[in-house]
Amino acid sequence: MALRSREIRLVRRPSGFPAPEDITLVETDVAEPRDGEVVVRNDLMSIDPYMRGRMNDVKSYLPPFQLDAAMEGHAIGRVVASRSAHVPIGTTVRHALGWRDYAVVPAKVVEAVDSSLAPESAFLSILGTTGFTAWVGLFEVAGLKAGETVFISAASGAVGSAAGQLAKLHGAARVVGSTGSDSKAEYLRTTLGFDDAFTYNSGDVEAKLRAAAPEGIDVYFDNVGGVQLEAALAVLKPFGRVAECGMISHYNEPAPGPRNMPLIVGKRLRLQGFIVLDHQKSYPAFLSEVAPALRDGRITDVQTIIDGLENAPQAFIDMLRGGGKHVGKVIVRIADASSAA
Ligand code: NDP
Repeated sequence: MALRSREIRLVRRPSGFPAPEDITLVETDVAEPRDGEVVVRNDLMSIDPYMRGRMNDVKSYLPPFQLDAAMEGHAIGRVVASRSAHVPIGTTVRHALGWRDYAVVPAKVVEAVDSSLAPESAFLSILGTTGFTAWVGLFEVAGLKAGETVFISAASGAVGSAAGQLAKLHGAARVVGSTGSDSKAEYLRTTLGFDDAFTYNSGDVEAKLRAAAPEGIDVYFDNVGGVQLEAALAVLKPFGRVAECGMISHYNEPAPGPRNMPLIVGKRLRLQGFIVLDHQKSYPAFLSEVAPALRDGRITDVQTIIDGLENAPQAFIDMLRGGGKHVGKVIVRIADASSAA
């Protein structure tokens, strides 16, 4: 077969925000698949905040990336060689070896993508882990109910934009989001149906949240931690719930923790962290609800597509920095799905 593949490797563990020099692109031979393996030509790959955590040499729920080895993450592509009777050549699959043109993957860990439901890219965003994370956090973790008020941080991002729309779809009375620029706040209000939205990077965040939710909030969907978590604790109603999805303000540099933690006691709040991987059994229920909503236009799959594997490191760095142009799920298009292998 003698395929060559470009792949992106971590060559230095970042201190603070990742720098372009921490990551490099190399060309290498694609290994011949062994029994039970398939070779996938990746078309699309996902850019995610958790990848920053995997750059650190620390034990977590996923292992650290190895130095001088290709990075990993969700990708979708087409099987171009197969030594598995179950996954024939031509199958479109999702798997966990992105950051490269070609991936050699055990057939038993690839998932066939049902492109009749939605375009393939949706399975990296609204119908993939991203949308599912929003759904799990809102309904399985925070128990959001119709008529309640929810605040979502990083609301114009991948999970946040899905969470706001899903909350509305489930009858939330008021959905408030925070984001990194005025234009993105406007986008949340006018295009995605948020009742209000504000910027987190200037002014008094707590005062902005209070103005946007004068009656208080029942649920906080936390993607950020730090200052925004402090503001949410102040504005949550008694017995309010917090879905601790992520804390991106802490991923690259130390960030202040909330100074008002005693409110958790006085207001009888419940904060629960979650990892979406623990909720896989609910994925079919999620898909059966959200795929029709996507098809009918009741929900929008918000994506920013970046062309070229070589541009993936910068896309990753930009996403972590915040305040940038990206909205929704950042996806890198590695190859044109319609082209030959
Ligand atoms: P996003 O698409 O939301 O991208 C991250 C966004 O975070 C940026 O676009 C930026 O938005 C915002 N941001 C960056 N730095 C800061 C900061 N210091 N303060 C406030 N906002 C900041 O990523 P995802 O939707 O993929 O992930 C959102 C969160 O969900 C992350 O914390 C992630 O770790 C978590 N997550 C958790 C999962 C789980 O199983 N628990 C699964 C998937 C994601 P802006 O441009 O508006 O500034």
